[in-house]
Amino acid sequence: MKIIRSKSELRELTRGWRVSGESIGVVPTMGALHDGHLSLVSAACARCDRVIVTLFVNPKQFNNPEDLEKYPRTEDSDAVKLAPYDVDVLYVPDGAQMYPDGFATTISVDGVSDGLCGATRPGHFDGVATVVAKLLRQSDADFAFFGEKDYQQVQVVRRVSEDLDLNCEIVPCPTVREDSGLALSSRNLRLDDAARQRASIIHATLSETARAIASGQEAGSALDKARGSLLAHGLGPIDYLEMRRERDLAVVQDNTAPARLFVAVWLDGVRLIDNLAIG
Ligand code: AMP
Repeated sequence: MKIIRSKSELRELTRGWRVSGESIGVVPTMGALHDGHLSLVSAACARCDRVIVTLFVNPKQFNNPEDLEKYPRTEDSDAVKLAPYDVDVLYVPDGAQMYPDGFATTISVDGVSDGLCGATRPGHFDGVATVVAKLLRQSDADFAFFGEKDYQQVQVVRRVSEDLDLNCEIVPCPTVREDSGLALSSRNLRLDDAARQRASIIHATLSETARAIASGQEAGSALDKARGSLLAHGLGPIDYLEMRRERDLAVVQDNTAPARLFVAVWLDGVRLIDNLAIG
């Protein structure tokens, strides 16, 4: 696995792959890799001739400077974790590569960026859309792999790729969880053992609520009960706990079209998100 830090060097390599007709997959990450990230890497290696994993902590998607500062940066151990996989390149651009002096373009996606994390983290999805458009162009990828743990993000980057004719298929991959049900996240590193244990109530609550709605309980009261359960277990505040239609993330009152539950909740100063399909 080659470590590349400049977009020109990356372009030189991908040009050669293109000439020989090889398909290219990219896995965008912010590092601090865990088994959730590695499941995307594994899916990319299974599907593509060449695989690029990117590692860039994107300042434009953090609406809170303290969150950005606290974000773990672990390039060396990330490279060790990738060694068993058939990854061709670990691409680690710095801020100047991504946002040189004079950089002035922001990509903003209407509709699917509204609500949920878009409402509680202003500017977050503009930052995501902008960096992902750049990473897809820089890697010249045919396929880009994203986790369903960030389901709204998958919908945002799908729109970016389609709307800007980037010719890159967005491949969603299932959420990887701890045995307790807690979705793996770099942010879990900031929870102590007891908090991590308590956090398992998030998935348990989503599962119970999804089951209740699928079996005919009225969604509003099922969601109220779920909010009560999270708060009773010492989690909170709750940024949102909502049911949305899968296709376009529209707010719905029932699950006649495929729908999902979405939650963002705080625990010991750490913001955790998760989502689950109903039925
Ligand atoms: P991040 O480094 O947090 O930006 O995440 C990079 C990619 O890994 C994104 O596509 C995330 O959705 C995905 N990811 C993060 N956690 C998980 C997980 N538990 N299961 C599957 N994919 C994940």
